[in-house]
Amino acid sequence: MPELPEVETIRRQLAPLVEGRTLTRIEILDPRWSRPLAPRELERALSGRRIERLGRRGKYLVWSFDGEVHLAQHLRMTGAVLSAPDPEPAHVRVRLLLSGRRRLVIVDPRRFGTGELLLGADALEAFFAARLGLEPFDERFTAEHLRGLARGRTAPIKAFLLDQRRIAGVGNIYADEALFRAGVHPRRPAGRLSREQYERLRTSVIAALSAGIDARGASIDDFRHIDGVRGSFQNQFLVHLREGEPCAVCGSTISKTVVGGRGTYVCETCQPPFRPRTNR
Ligand SMILES: [Zn+2]
Repeated sequence: MPELPEVETIRRQLAPLVEGRTLTRIEILDPRWSRPLAPRELERALSGRRIERLGRRGKYLVWSFDGEVHLAQHLRMTGAVLSAPDPEPAHVRVRLLLSGRRRLVIVDPRRFGTGELLLGADALEAFFAARLGLEPFDERFTAEHLRGLARGRTAPIKAFLLDQRRIAGVGNIYADEALFRAGVHPRRPAGRLSREQYERLRTSVIAALSAGIDARGASIDDFRHIDGVRGSFQNQFLVHLREGEPCAVCGSTISKTVVGGRGTYVCETCQPPFRPRTNR
């Protein structure tokens, strides 16, 4: 699934092509995409509106139109936005025609992607307040903030990082990469890190996401740029998907385990397992 760096990559490529243009026509071919609205209702709300800004919040692309009309788009598992593909690819769910005859399509083989209409700034804010924590690049995302969120939590730190209501945008790839960079074992209880480890984790989350953005995202699945090209961050993974390979830092073999139901990659030397002290 595209995570923050993948969605940010698409946003950066798409924004200069769409901002300032009018959405002449939107054609929603799959009613699942616009649920609970019927395709015709969403088409009516957006057609003829000027795209003022293309933003991002967590893993959402946020299309902001004139009149405080917003569309929160989520790509989920296999969604992609393609600019003027010729011929038109399979699995097109939405077609967008913009002024200047610019043409975009949203493809999505597994059909989990969504587009939700939000009317007004308050509706936009409430939508994200209910779903997402701070952006990792927000200056309020500090070690203290992280420590406060984690206080008393016994869930593994990896599961904690994946919870979008706490930190927005981190998924399975970047959680593994950040925990490795921080030297923290993914199974360590979230509330049981030292002050120094929260600080290292904060820095590592930002560093892993920044490296992903610099490499224009990771394509280990269907993730594609708007011109169909793949990202390259998968070639720079430190631990993710590297089971059986040597750790670049210490040479130990990287192992795979399951944490919170997700495949998880770890160097048990750089990220020592947590051994709780017992009273005897
Ligand atoms: Zn190592």
